[in-house]
Amino acid sequence: MDAEIIAVGTELLMGELVDSNSAFLASELPKLGMSLKIAVKIGDDINDLSKGIESALTRSDVVITTGGLGPTSDDLTRESIAKFFEEEMEVDPTLLNDLEENFAMRGIIMPKTNIKQATLIPSSIPLPNPNGTAPGWFVNKNCKIVIAMPGPPMELIPMWKDHVVDKLTAFSDGVSIATKNIKTFGRSEGELDEVLSHLFGQENPYLGIYSKQDGIHLRAIAKSATYAEAASLISQIECQIIEKVGANFIWGQDDDTPAEVATNLLQSKNLQLCVTESYTGGSVCGLVSECEVFDEIFVQGLIKTPSTKPILDYREPNQPCNDFCKADLHLNISPLLLENPTHHFGTVHFRISSHHETTCISGKYRTGNSRMRQRASNHALIELIRFVKANYK
Ligand code: ATP
Repeated sequence: MDAEIIAVGTELLMGELVDSNSAFLASELPKLGMSLKIAVKIGDDINDLSKGIESALTRSDVVITTGGLGPTSDDLTRESIAKFFEEEMEVDPTLLNDLEENFAMRGIIMPKTNIKQATLIPSSIPLPNPNGTAPGWFVNKNCKIVIAMPGPPMELIPMWKDHVVDKLTAFSDGVSIATKNIKTFGRSEGELDEVLSHLFGQENPYLGIYSKQDGIHLRAIAKSATYAEAASLISQIECQIIEKVGANFIWGQDDDTPAEVATNLLQSKNLQLCVTESYTGGSVCGLVSECEVFDEIFVQGLIKTPSTKPILDYREPNQPCNDFCKADLHLNISPLLLENPTHHFGTVHFRISSHHETTCISGKYRTGNSRMRQRASNHALIELIRFVKANYK
């Protein structure tokens, strides 16, 4: 099936907002066996929007809109869909009741403008939105599907995963899809392209290569009549990829993040972690602190500048972290940074402790801006994963 995305909002056209919703949906559609044909941005104008929906549906089977479901007069996605299908919007009593309860729970009187968020057209069914006030719409009419979802990603992403994926799968021509995203680090895109050249270009399973903040991702998509067959195609190509790329260069898969993989690995090996980072904005500690097993593996973190100035002891006496800071003063500073201290480079120093021994590893990374700091932190964590895998069997 072919699909198109319409990201709705004048702020998108003014360059005030980056359209991350389309990027998210574009990465999701192949998993459902759908080909994204066109993705556009359209401002808050009912005529432009209904014409946009009309032309998209002349080419494709499915149109997904994001945004424009708010209560204000410039939120016109519902009206545009109703106009295109020539159906009347009517208030749905159940949706209205849910909406009123939502406001009552927050102790706010619901403004009348919000009532339109409780409307449906006869061909639409509501898509629940537990994270906001605007339910989505799933419209199935004349063999065409229009899905309207809210703009905020924290509303759109759960709505997509929990309420849209299953409905769309039911329309996917009896084709089952299996996917696998293999995350690599340490081999260049060119090298991977070379060693996997025999796998690129084939249609099923299809293999794509994507350069990301946390390394290079290899994404395989297989289609078959049953899920079991598609999954078997995926495991075959996965074995070939691991053999050609080398297991050492693969740090994760699918939704894995470097911080999650690193912390789970440390926990599984009964290891504890101390982090000292400079010029990374503390983002290594930030990423690690969001992980499920953070409390089990993390001892302490220190954010500091890579200079020789003495560290003032800001802690209570007798706290065990004293030694860590003093030891770290020697370990963390690379000679290069001492010669040329600059905020364009950061260092990340990990101290990994088991019951028997403590090992330290350090890395130096380019960190010019916040994006690069995030990237540096991910690279440091991937190096930690590789080190632990290689040294703690
Ligand atoms: P609300 O009920 O919050 O008004 P809505 O469905 O009407 O939701 P919009 O008003 O269009 O959505 O956008 C609300 C916010 O959602 C935007 O300010 C922006 O933060 C985010 N947003 C909207 N569209 C996108 C997009 N395409 N990509 C990323 N974020 C978006």
